[in-house]
Order: sequence, then structure tokens, then C-alpha cells
Amino acid sequence: MNDTRIVIVGGGTAGWLTAAYLSRTLGKPGSGTRITVVESPDIAIIGVGEGSFPTLRTTLSTLGVSEAAFCKAADATFKQGVRFTGWAGRPTPGHDHDDYMHVFDLPYGGDTPGLLPAWLATGGANRPAYADAVTAQERVMRAGLAPKRPGDRDFEAPFNYAYHFDAPKLAGFLRDVAVANGVERIVATIGKVVQAEDGHIAAVVPENGGDAIAGDLFVDCTGFSGRLIGETLGSRFKPVDDILFNDRALALQIPYDRPDAPISSYTHATAHGGGWIWDIGLSERRGTGCVYSSRHMSDDEAERVLRGYAGVGEAGTPRLLKFRTGYRETQWVGNTVAVGLAAGFFEPLESTGIMLIEVAARMIAEFAVNTDKASLAAAARSYNRLMPARFAAIVEFLKLHYAISHRRDTAYWRDNTDPATWPDGLADKLAQWQRRLPSRFDFVVDHESFLPPNWQYILYGHGFDTPAPIVAPPALDAAYAAFGKVRQAQAQAVKALPDHRSLVQHLHQT
Ligand SMILES: Cc1cc2nc3c(=O)[nH]c(=O)nc-3n(C[C@H](O)[C@H](O)[C@H](O)COP(=O)(O)OP(=O)(O)OC[C@H]3O[C@@H](n4cnc5c(N)ncnc54)[C@H](O)[C@@H]3O)c2cc1C
Repeated sequence: MNDTRIVIVGGGTAGWLTAAYLSRTLGKPGSGTRITVVESPDIAIIGVGEGSFPTLRTTLSTLGVSEAAFCKAADATFKQGVRFTGWAGRPTPGHDHDDYMHVFDLPYGGDTPGLLPAWLATGGANRPAYADAVTAQERVMRAGLAPKRPGDRDFEAPFNYAYHFDAPKLAGFLRDVAVANGVERIVATIGKVVQAEDGHIAAVVPENGGDAIAGDLFVDCTGFSGRLIGETLGSRFKPVDDILFNDRALALQIPYDRPDAPISSYTHATAHGGGWIWDIGLSERRGTGCVYSSRHMSDDEAERVLRGYAGVGEAGTPRLLKFRTGYRETQWVGNTVAVGLAAGFFEPLESTGIMLIEVAARMIAEFAVNTDKASLAAAARSYNRLMPARFAAIVEFLKLHYAISHRRDTAYWRDNTDPATWPDGLADKLAQWQRRLPSRFDFVVDHESFLPPNWQYILYGHGFDTPAPIVAPPALDAAYAAFGKVRQAQAQAVKALPDHRSLVQHLHQT
């Protein structure tokens, strides 16, 4: 039997994560599958993106690495969610100012006690923020604590969490893991792509005249250029910049002002007149960035906003990144699948980039077990039904953050809150949620990266006005008992969990 060869073109996070994952699944020793990554010595990786989804824990565990090794190699810290400041345009429930948390933990008891209706029915000035009422995690985040204790097992914890990390170091770590698992690395820029008569890609050819690299399955991880999926195979890029306006970012790294400065265990997203600013705490430095719409804000103004936020005067040189917002409607063509920026990209508001790479790697591992033509065609049909739908669902979730705002202070916010810029699915949901509670059946859950509780954290953290439903006394009693349990869990967690920086230091010394 001939070996199956998978050729991944591109050595950024997408290429190396896919290679590392496939080497542990399809490429196990004796499987007859050989995996090659071709990366250009001349085309740099994008090298930004410092936040992840909780799914990265499962992926790292599948790769067989230790959590301490990952944290040390990628300067990683823990992320328990996102804090939004300045998005609602008025004080948010539970606060006298505009600030709320999207926590990663699910509501207590999976929300079976009906916590949302009881929280809405309670109202009043003393009502805690929604996330603070239904989970203990908001308290833990605001207290600067880690989601786990030093003795907890790798990738396990009392609280759900993801990571912050240095992006180039993450790509280097994944490369080392993949190569240690037997992935072959070729350093070359691909010039020519050879297609067979049926349109499948037969080989990619280095532009310096090296040998053609033939394969059975190709994975296009060439970043925004989409060298195989777009330039060669002509898969159309569907822009969504009429919905999600942000198309630029200015990234600026900031040193901590003292070695023991606290490290936030959440991404802090602070809204401004033409977008928002990310603030992420790594073990060695902070990463900040101004995300904005070039149609609403100039680069100079964005730099002023970022420097004002960071308080660094004229120090440091921000890096300007321009990006296309949208995705390929067909991501698997013949024997080629696009993964990472080659498949699509949305602004980094909820850190969806690497999560989509993880989903793609997993689907390829499960769908591309057989690489004969009929099996690949069937796999492509399934993949192209599922993946673009997942991208489309993310567009709705990201737009939600803007659409329900009460801000009208700039053209950016007026345009974002104009229903003409909302996707139909989001407009339908919001129209209904002004009169009834969100339902599990509002979502095709298999397409969703964000489950109903994630939508609820944004909606009710923000203060969306769903009318209070009538809740019968037994249900209300059950919900109040659950709220009491959450308060007990908060008190216990705040006593039991270590300070975030001290846990990071502990892992670095392990
Ligand atoms: C401003 C910004 C912020 C972001 N924030 C986040 C975040 O917080 N969380 C998150 O999950 N994601 C984030 N992302 C997305 C994340 O950075 C990417 O999804 C991730 O880095 C994967 O990139 P990639 O590997 O697809 O592409 P790249 O990093 O661009 O890699 C492309 C690779 O292809 C190679 N290549 C290209 N052409 C050729 C050729 N002809 N021959 C050989 N090799 C070639 C290059 O050398 C390179 O190795 C962000 C992106 C941006 C722009």
C-alpha cells in the first residue's frame, strides 16, 4: 500500500497547529500517513493574536504536551473571559458605570433552575450583574485570581479557562511539537501549483527550483493570500465588512511597570469612538491594540487613542495590521482544504481565529481518513455545509456586541446600531428577544461556537431589555436557592484560589 501524503503549505499557527494535531491522529506511527509542512523563509507569519478559546486546553492535551511546558514556551497566562468597558453606552446592570463580564463558566446548574427568568423578574438597584448572579467566576476574575490551584491536574480546574500567549512563540512551540511527532518540515516559498486533469492539486513547486512536492491532500495555511484555495482554485472570498466594520489594528507591547504587577486573567476590551482596545496580560509584558474601522477612524487618530489608553506617551512603535473581514464560502475544494486566515478572518473581539483552526484540524482528522476521490468529494460536501455556517454564526454573535449598544456618540456607533447593517438572523433574534426569552431553538447548536449562555452573558451583561417574565413562586424559590449556592461558591473560591501572577510564576518554575 502506498503512503498517504498530507502537504500543509504555510508555517504560521494554522499550519503548525494542523500539522501537530494531524500527526497525533491521522499520522500515528504505522498509519501510513506522512505529513509535510512547507513554510516560506521570506513571507513572515502574521505574529499577532494573543487570546484563545477554552477549546485550546483539549487541543493541547491531545497533542500530549504538559501545561507548564506550554506556558513557559509561549509566555502564557490564564484567560477566564472578556471584560467589556464602555460598550453599552449606559450603566450596566449591577454597576454604576458601563462594564460587564463575558465569563467562560456556564451558569450554575447549566441554568436548569431557570436563573435567567428569575434574574430578569428580580430587577431593582440591588440586583447583581447577570454573570455575577449565575456564576462564581466574575468575582474570581475581578479579584485578580487564577482559575485553578497549583495542585490541579494539567488542563483541569474548578473554573473554565483559556490562555493568553505570545503569538510567534505559540507558533514556534507548535512547530517543535509537530516536528517531534514526525512531521517533515520543508523551508521553501511555493511558486507554482500543479493541477491534475480533474482539478485536484497534484503538487506544489518551490520557486527556487527545488523538487515538486506531491500530495494526496493539501491544506492551505498560507494566510490572507490563500495561495491554493483562492489564487489557484478560485474559491470566492465573501466579505462581511458591511456588517463588521473593523479592518485595522495597531498593536503595541507594553512592559509591566514593576516585576510583581498584577496580571489580569481576562482580556479587557474597552470601546472607543471608532472601535475598541484590547489589553492582555502575558507573563513578561502586556499586549495592547487598537482595533478600528478605517472608514470611521484614521490611523493617526487610532494611534492617539491607543497611546492615550496605554499612558506611554511617545514610547514604543505600534505595528499596523490591515485585515480583510470575511470568509470563503467553499473552504474545501477537491483535495484542498483552507485553514486559518486562508479560510477567513473576523476582528479579534472574541478570539475566534485559533478556535476555528482547532475545529478545522479536528474535522480534517475525522473526515479525511480516506483520500480516494469519492471519499474526498463527500467529505468536502459535509465540510462546506458545516464550516461556512459556523463562520456565519460568528458574524451574528460579534455584531450582537455592537448592535444592542445605546451609544450614538459617533458615526461608528450610529452605523453599528442601525438595523440596516445587521445580518437577518440577528435582526430576527433581537426582535423576538424584545418580547420573549432566548430559546435553545434560536440556535443550530452544531454550527455555533458560542452557545446560548454566551449570548446571554452579552445580552444581559449589556442590559438588553427583555421584559421580565412571570415566574411562578416554586420556580422562583428554586432559582433563589441556586443564587444562594452561587454566593457560597464565590466566597469559597475567593478564599481557595491563588493570585493569578503567583500561579503563572509557579508554572514557570515547574
Ligand atoms: C489584529 C489581529 C488580531 C488577532 N487576534 C487573535 C486572537 O486574539 N485570537 C485568535 O485566536 N486569533 C487572532 N487573530 C488571528 C490569528 O492571528 C490567526 O488566525 C493565526 O495566527 C493563524 O494565522 P495563519 O497561520 O493562518 O497565517 P500566517 O500567520 O499569516 O501564516 C502564513 C504562513 O504561510 C506561509 N506562506 C505564505 N505564502 C506561502 C508560499 N507561497 N509558500 C510557502 N509558504 C507560504 C508564510 O510563510 C507563513 O508561514 C488575530 C489576527 C489579527 C490580524
